[in-house]
Amino acid sequence: MELQGITIEGAHKGLKDKDFSAVELTQAYLARIKEQDKKVHAFLSLNGEAALSQAAGIDKELSAGRDISVLAGIPMAVKDNILVEGTKTTAASKILENYVAPYDATCITRLKDQGIIILGKTNLDEFAMGSSTENSAFGPTRNPNDLERVPGGSSGGSAAAVKGDLCAFALGSDTGGSIRQPASFCGVVGLKPTYGAVSRYGLIAFASSLDQIGPITRNIQDCRIVFDIIRGKDSKDSTSFEPGSLNSSKGKTVKDLVIGVPKEYFIKGTDQKVIDLVEKAIERYQKGGAAVKEISLPHTEYALPCYYIIAPSEASANLARFDGIKYGLSRREEAVDLLDVYLKSRGEGFGPEVRRRIMLGTYALSSGYYEAYYVRSKKIKKLIEQDFNKVFKEVDVIMSPVCPTTAFKLGERVEDPLQMYLSDVFTVSVNLAGLPAISFPCGEIEGLPVGLQIIGKHWEENKILKVAEAFEKGVI
Ligand code: GLN
Repeated sequence: MELQGITIEGAHKGLKDKDFSAVELTQAYLARIKEQDKKVHAFLSLNGEAALSQAAGIDKELSAGRDISVLAGIPMAVKDNILVEGTKTTAASKILENYVAPYDATCITRLKDQGIIILGKTNLDEFAMGSSTENSAFGPTRNPNDLERVPGGSSGGSAAAVKGDLCAFALGSDTGGSIRQPASFCGVVGLKPTYGAVSRYGLIAFASSLDQIGPITRNIQDCRIVFDIIRGKDSKDSTSFEPGSLNSSKGKTVKDLVIGVPKEYFIKGTDQKVIDLVEKAIERYQKGGAAVKEISLPHTEYALPCYYIIAPSEASANLARFDGIKYGLSRREEAVDLLDVYLKSRGEGFGPEVRRRIMLGTYALSSGYYEAYYVRSKKIKKLIEQDFNKVFKEVDVIMSPVCPTTAFKLGERVEDPLQMYLSDVFTVSVNLAGLPAISFPCGEIEGLPVGLQIIGKHWEENKILKVAEAFEKGVI
């Protein structure tokens, strides 16, 4: 069975037309994973048996002549920091190596209600901290476009699984770019929703004020389908929100669109070929009738330092629960006292990047430094949000590169955390401001994909999806 490039809509049509059954489709993916994933290592664990029995259930519905939802019987992959009841959920950390999720994340419940098939859990940087998936405790994932290169991160396993046709679509999470950057590196579509659009219940927390779950798909329409199911208010996450009449796909067409191009996002240090491709893409919009306006987001230079205070601070608090008592790995037997349990379990369970972030965060939150670092960063976060609010009075969307480079080689940046952090320079502001943004392929450089980032106003996912779709479909 041909799985290459199969979309959710394509698979749905195939199921309804009885070209294949849900069991056959699931079997085909599982067989492809078995063969291809030795090289790519997108998956940390597979859910074969459960997936096949879920698929058999959908086939029953189909043969009974029942109408099925567009997502019913569609095989997907889930980033391994999102809980799926009864499956191992490790966050790619040794500390959770044998942790089995006792319940479903809300987005999973919603997808299961649609009849989704979960093939397995995908690799990530440990606790979603990283930009290359090399920080996984279980070995890196490779980019299906070039196996010598990283798929990006931290949702690298999900992006690689979609690109490698190892699933029809996947879920990722984005705290500072972890959906968009791997989508850009792999050549797929990734949406980071407005903060609060998707419930974070059942997502292993990294930085709670920035984390969002979102879809990674093969095209824009699939992204829309998945987002529409997972978004919305959830009583289990008090930061989730239902925007009512907002988020409408009605409104402007490309012809009367005003695109803002932030000058701070076209800076030295960015690969000139990436800039050229992104500028060419923006030109296409201009030729299609859109007005393009240079804008300024003056606090951009503070975004990265601000993010690397806030994210580790929140992480250090969130990760305090992994203490060798409540969850996962425990060195209780070898410890002499309680403190020793903590030290031994955490020292062994967490990898170097996680330990680095905990130290940074604990330092930034410690008394005497709290005002100087955390409080100040929170103020800068506000200024960054205000920058966006101001320009959004004049423009409908903002366009920029996703990342300064294409996918880099494995090992190239692992030893240099600062170099690694730089790959987030165009993505972190969006999380700090709580905005929605999409990354989708706008071209290639020597066989390596480049993503275009479209940032929208709060709750305007549908607008950015529509604008991105015009490019994808060649309407402009
Ligand atoms: N690369 C960023 C970091 O390491 C973003 C990670 C993410 O979005 N989860 O923090």
